[in-house]
Amino acid sequence: ALELVDIHKSYDDLQVIKGISLKANDGDVISILGSSGSGKSTLLRCINLLERPNAGRIIVAGEELALKPGKDGYLGAASRAQLEAMRSRIGFVFQSFNLWPHKTILDNIIEAPMRVLKQPRSQAVARAEELLARVGLADKRNAYPGNLSGGQQQRIAIARALAMDPQVLLFDEPTSALDPELVNEVLSVMRSLAEEGRTMLIVTHEMRFARDVSSQVVFLHQGQIEEIGSPEQVFDNPKSERVRDFMSSHL
Ligand code: ATP
Ligand code: MG
Repeated sequence: ALELVDIHKSYDDLQVIKGISLKANDGDVISILGSSGSGKSTLLRCINLLERPNAGRIIVAGEELALKPGKDGYLGAASRAQLEAMRSRIGFVFQSFNLWPHKTILDNIIEAPMRVLKQPRSQAVARAEELLARVGLADKRNAYPGNLSGGQQQRIAIARALAMDPQVLLFDEPTSALDPELVNEVLSVMRSLAEEGRTMLIVTHEMRFARDVSSQVVFLHQGQIEEIGSPEQVFDNPKSERVRDFMSSHL
């Protein structure tokens, strides 16, 4: 489970996240929608401390992250070790894959389990092979990211995140950088993760996918939750006029 309590984030004078609270129970799939600039990426990045929030609490699997106020007004992790421990429990899949270009696919996947979780190489490799099979790319273990299609790279990025056995997976527009014919191979991996009960927060513009897999849909507007509810409610019967307009222009 993941709980966010009253998260705030500003860049100088610009308030980007204005008090967001949200709870994902185990197995929940929460889709986050909203127009460009509404704060979707910033919210996800705050959860993983890729951005440091100004205020708020983050609780992963019942354990509150000990955020320490810095002299610049932002909260940070108490220590490097704490930051790594926390990040190892929250997987992040980026729009742009972010694989290490000079490492093989296998080395991309085993790096963090070996370095952060201190897994012996043989164990990390065995798990990586399982995950490569699961995303349908067992034959790519010795390839380099540059030799893979975007859809394949994104499936590797998902396998890399899964290798840490995270409590929660965050996805920031994982299919937005892909050619249209490659979108489905990534969505189908994500769909299988949802079906097996993974807890996920997904920023996406794939409306049909969001409607199918989500337990809850959150609509952000100017750094606040404009509406939250079941997919049926938010897609078919939104209370907010703004959400209704967004849906009618995105379906
Ligand atoms: P998109 O759909 O385009 O990805 P988004 O909902 O993810 O948009 P964010 O990227 O979270 O939006 O940005 C929210 C606001 O914060 C925007 O006004 C953006 O310009 C601003 N912002 C984001 N990152 C920074 C930064 N590093 N410095 C200053 N302002 C930023
Ligand atoms: Mg974004």
